[in-house]
Amino acid sequence: MKTIKHIIGGVYSTGSTTETQPVYNPATGEQSGAVVLGAKADVDAAAAAALEAFPAWSATPPAKRARLMFKLHAVMNKRADEIAKTLSAEHGKTHADALGEVTRALEVVEFAAGIPSHLNGNFSADVSPGIDTHSERQPLGVVAGITPFNFPSMVPLWMIPMALACGNTFVLKPSERDPSSANLIYDLLKEAGFPDGVLNIVHGGKPAVDAILDHPDIQAVSFVGSTPIAQYVYTRGCAAGKRVQALGGAKNHMIIMPDADLDQAADALMGAGFGSAGERCMAISVAVPIGKDTADKLVAKLAPQVAAIKVGPSTDASAEMGPIITREARDRIAGLIGAGAKEGAKIVVDGRGLKLQGYENGFWIGGTLLDHVLPHMNIYKTEIFGPVLSVLRADDYKQAVDLINDHEYGNGTAIFTRDGDAARDFAKRIKVGMVGINVPIPVPVATHSFGGWKRSSFGAHGIYGPEAVHFYTRLKTVTTRWPTGIRKGAEFTFPSNG
Ligand code: NAD
Repeated sequence: MKTIKHIIGGVYSTGSTTETQPVYNPATGEQSGAVVLGAKADVDAAAAAALEAFPAWSATPPAKRARLMFKLHAVMNKRADEIAKTLSAEHGKTHADALGEVTRALEVVEFAAGIPSHLNGNFSADVSPGIDTHSERQPLGVVAGITPFNFPSMVPLWMIPMALACGNTFVLKPSERDPSSANLIYDLLKEAGFPDGVLNIVHGGKPAVDAILDHPDIQAVSFVGSTPIAQYVYTRGCAAGKRVQALGGAKNHMIIMPDADLDQAADALMGAGFGSAGERCMAISVAVPIGKDTADKLVAKLAPQVAAIKVGPSTDASAEMGPIITREARDRIAGLIGAGAKEGAKIVVDGRGLKLQGYENGFWIGGTLLDHVLPHMNIYKTEIFGPVLSVLRADDYKQAVDLINDHEYGNGTAIFTRDGDAARDFAKRIKVGMVGINVPIPVPVATHSFGGWKRSSFGAHGIYGPEAVHFYTRLKTVTTRWPTGIRKGAEFTFPSNG
């Protein structure tokens, strides 16, 4: 059985502890490997390797760093199938879905390859007689990323290309549930020609995270995961004087207006609700049809489609949805469905207890549709993070908007309508960071930045895109006067053009 090791300064290591955690194939329920669990000493070693690599890496001209990004892009394209298979083997998502994840990661590498122009500063001539001012953005030093299980390749690659392109060196602490993808990312960088020590990987759980948050040489932390941990990481990291961006959980609503094309809306809900078994922070988990007629028709369209979702392992090319990441996560989702029914929600399609021939021990749950979900129910307030779509019927548009604005999360949302006025009003008034107009999963492309509002995100910056350039650099502004032969004598008033 394979052991997934730390990679520190270009060297694979089992680290300072003998502790490991099993890694599973969620389709079979069998253990496929064991990941080493790092402690403070391993984070210290990784931070030291990153610190050692920083002077040479940050002095490498942005154009050369960009060229390495082009090489990384080529290597990732060449090995895309392997990347997808590696992540699916531990996560469970379908191969086609995994390839989509790789494509989105490639787009971040493409944006990072434009780093020479992203780092362009400003220059103002003659801000005062004989004085010019310019600003530039400089790297922070060693930065770290802590990532979730649900995009084991893409989320680390939301961070690493941008952080490295800006001239920083990196310590990654990936999810311990599907850790092999992180080590593959290291291999890809190595093949592309990145120097050792620029990317270091420490596996583990809370002890490794805490060591990162407290480490004096780590200047900034990017976190993606659940809201309670995001808030913890933000608070502890900031208390240690770091720059922190911490992206958290979600409960994403989609409003279906009475004038919407209901077939299109139902298709959108199927993909956005059940793709990747609902284990996406941008999954639509609540459909909000406006009016009884819209709701009845929508549920009638969805029910047979949800019941017919083809669930299977990632190796089955016809599967539309894979297993859940762990047995515990599957049981938690099943428990939430049961509790929702007790609260009064109507189970229209029940995915609990699904068994697949030949995969009897896999962590399966089928597509589930709940109708008549109400705002006070726990099933509505909680992020389920599984293939469960709740229908919450609203009387009118205003009630639907208030519902979304009152929810603790504000990651993504969508409206399906033909009414431009309603769509424009929605985009303006909704308290959510990423909004789709007839687009169910409005994940911004890599030239924009990703980030939610409210308790879906802590910190001022979005992830990847232009916001990442700001997060991973600090601004320096230089004001210059060259001797001109004019001597004015000492000036004791505050410098101004007055
Ligand atoms: P998680 O919060 O359990 O884990 C995320 C990371 O935090 C992992 O690396 C994990 O090892 C670490 N961690 C876990 N418990 C910890 C603790 N007590 N102390 C310190 N570190 C700890 O999240 P997950 O289950 O891996 O991922 C799913 C969650 O991530 C969902 O809530 C989902 O919405 C969210 N997510 C958000 C985004 C986004 O961009 N907003 C993207 C993807 C996933």
